[in-house]
Amino acid sequence: MTLISRPQNNPILVIFTDLDGTLLDSAYTYEMALPALKLVSDRNIPLIICSSKTRAEIELIRKGLGNDHPFVSENGGGIYISKSNYELRIKDYETEELDEYYLIKLGADYADLRRALAEIRGEGFNVRGFGDMSVKEVAELTGLKESDAELAQKRQFDEVFTFTGDEASVNKLKQRINSMGFNYTQGEYFHIMGNSDKGRAVGILKELYAAESVKVITAALGNSPNDIEMLNNVDHPFVVKKEDGSYSRQILHEVKGCKKVDGIGPVGWNKAVKKLLSNFFDCTDDRGRLHR
Ligand SMILES: [Mg+2]
Repeated sequence: MTLISRPQNNPILVIFTDLDGTLLDSAYTYEMALPALKLVSDRNIPLIICSSKTRAEIELIRKGLGNDHPFVSENGGGIYISKSNYELRIKDYETEELDEYYLIKLGADYADLRRALAEIRGEGFNVRGFGDMSVKEVAELTGLKESDAELAQKRQFDEVFTFTGDEASVNKLKQRINSMGFNYTQGEYFHIMGNSDKGRAVGILKELYAAESVKVITAALGNSPNDIEMLNNVDHPFVVKKEDGSYSRQILHEVKGCKKVDGIGPVGWNKAVKKLLSNFFDCTDDRGRLHR
């Protein structure tokens, strides 16, 4: 790993991405995005995974991608920065050392979220969390392999749950979660979490990169309401199509200037990132720094 001299004199491009339904398709593969992923990797552009998935799940994907950039787990609950990564100085932030990472913890403790969910269930809401399910049940629900479902259950900052009810009862549930001092969001499933979201995590990472470069240009890709805060925190927000070919109405409504990408999940991801890079292509050096 080369130690990059600081500060950078040129602008740097940073890309944030959701995983489920965005970089990953319904079979949890990113094959359709490989051409754009290669361009990103060849230029060493920071590609920051920002997902509702757990650290263990994201680590597996990062390994496949050969990605050593920071990542954000569990809907903004934690920012992980490899100790071997020299892109960022984190001395101004409160961090914990956890294995090979510095962790900036933003989320609530999982045990508190589990207690809150149990209380909500006791009040008659038909909720069921990943922590209530066997590995086999999580695998059946999500379509994950059992070995991957096990990683999905290693939660620290956010509990995923299922809930059956109409729109009115979803609103009641949301209000109840808020009244307990927790937050609610929706990706493929429902989530209860603390005072964290993907946008807060993106904001911190933007600040960290800004300390390293004269200008940071940011882009993000998502598909679900839990991506709204992330998309609202970048210069170039993109929404990809959902499995049924539609776009999240909530994203279109709440993210100003969000660019609709014509493609489902990783097909759209590939198109959007290729287009994004082609705008910078001639003026980007091999470290993702932009010469304009
Ligand atoms: Mg998603």
